[in-house]
Amino acid sequence: MRAEIISIGDELISGNRLDTNSQWLSQQLGALGIQTAFHTTVGDCHADNIGAFRNAVSRVDLVVSTGGLGPTADDLTREAIADAFHRPLALRQEALSHIEGLFATRKRPMPERNRVQAMFPEGARIVPNPHGTAPGIDVTIDSGDHTCRVFALPGVPAEMKQMYQDTIEPLLISEHGAGKERWFYRELKLFGIGESDVEKLIPDLIARDRDPVVGITVSKATITLRIAACCESEDAFRNRIAPTEQIIHEKLGLLVFGSGPGDLDEAVAKMLDDHQLKLGVIEFGAGVWIAPALSKHQTTDPEYGLVAARWYPQLPVVSRSPEERDASLKAIAEEMLRSESLDLCLLVATYPPIADVITSTTLPSSDFTMVLARKGKPSRLTQITLGAHPEVLYHRLAKTGLNLLRTELLQRD
Ligand code: AMP
Ligand code: MG
Repeated sequence: MRAEIISIGDELISGNRLDTNSQWLSQQLGALGIQTAFHTTVGDCHADNIGAFRNAVSRVDLVVSTGGLGPTADDLTREAIADAFHRPLALRQEALSHIEGLFATRKRPMPERNRVQAMFPEGARIVPNPHGTAPGIDVTIDSGDHTCRVFALPGVPAEMKQMYQDTIEPLLISEHGAGKERWFYRELKLFGIGESDVEKLIPDLIARDRDPVVGITVSKATITLRIAACCESEDAFRNRIAPTEQIIHEKLGLLVFGSGPGDLDEAVAKMLDDHQLKLGVIEFGAGVWIAPALSKHQTTDPEYGLVAARWYPQLPVVSRSPEERDASLKAIAEEMLRSESLDLCLLVATYPPIADVITSTTLPSSDFTMVLARKGKPSRLTQITLGAHPEVLYHRLAKTGLNLLRTELLQRD
């Protein structure tokens, strides 16, 4: 069963309000094994609404719309459904009684305009709205080659959610056999490679007609591979995706640092904890990321993990040559390693200015230096060249530092 969600309202297409109903409904439908194929957003315009409903009904088996069921002239959903599918509106006494009852309990006279909310397209069922004056519409449209079930719900998120849970979900389960399977997802996280390079390494996995399907997204320089499949249970899902996950690990190896919602800082914090290591971090520049990120994660023993952090807005030494500069950075990291009795000290120089103060003429430098000082081993100085939007660059630099640490810890295993 493929679904389309139609969100209706000028406030949505103008950008004044975020369409959260579609997100929520897609998640609910996914939990019943129903794949949402389209999200459509349309303003409060009668002709556009007719077009949106006709379009949706022609291409999916289930349409859920939200919005446009209020009593005012800009609420056009019921007229749009009536006109799109030639189902004239008629007053339904049970709906009118409910609306009158709501006004009576609120001790207010019912405005004449609210009568319109008791008008339903021919052949429609009423979706009760216990707390609101806008009942929903449930109508099945047979277009010859296929039938499509259309549910129209009010836009107010609280009313919409309750009506979905009380009425729509049970109907989808009992009348359409939904819920036997559901969509499950597993996310694998990668760092240290570009999106297109990932695709080059696993081209067959990204094919769109594959089951399980694998998608690539990137956020703040971390790449996520999202494996999705519709299965009966978590166990069945694990079995279904196991060969896919194995290929990913074979082809991408140590680039994969974890699974689930956590980012690289969480993975590194856990490794420090597991290895019972003391880390110090020194960050130079306009911002710091590594120390605050690592300090969010609790270690089982507070003696380990991130135990010392320093931040300097600028490099403290103005050196005559790059060699001198590198030597002084190494010395700073080694001094902290000794004075704080650390196992590791990571130094990152120099974070670019924060994005909102950057103009195209003040683009930050793209060359960075990192030092990893290690107890009982020579320090390692790494020069790297990175490029990205300033905001992403900031994260990419910090995560490159964390990844240096991570690869060092992996070698210790
Ligand atoms: P309506 O049913 O069109 O009168 O919408 C009532 C209110 O619900 C609107 O004023 C919005 O604040 C809210 N609303 C409508 N559609 C959405 C949506 N898709 N996502 C989030 N809020 C919405
Ligand atoms: Mg509206």
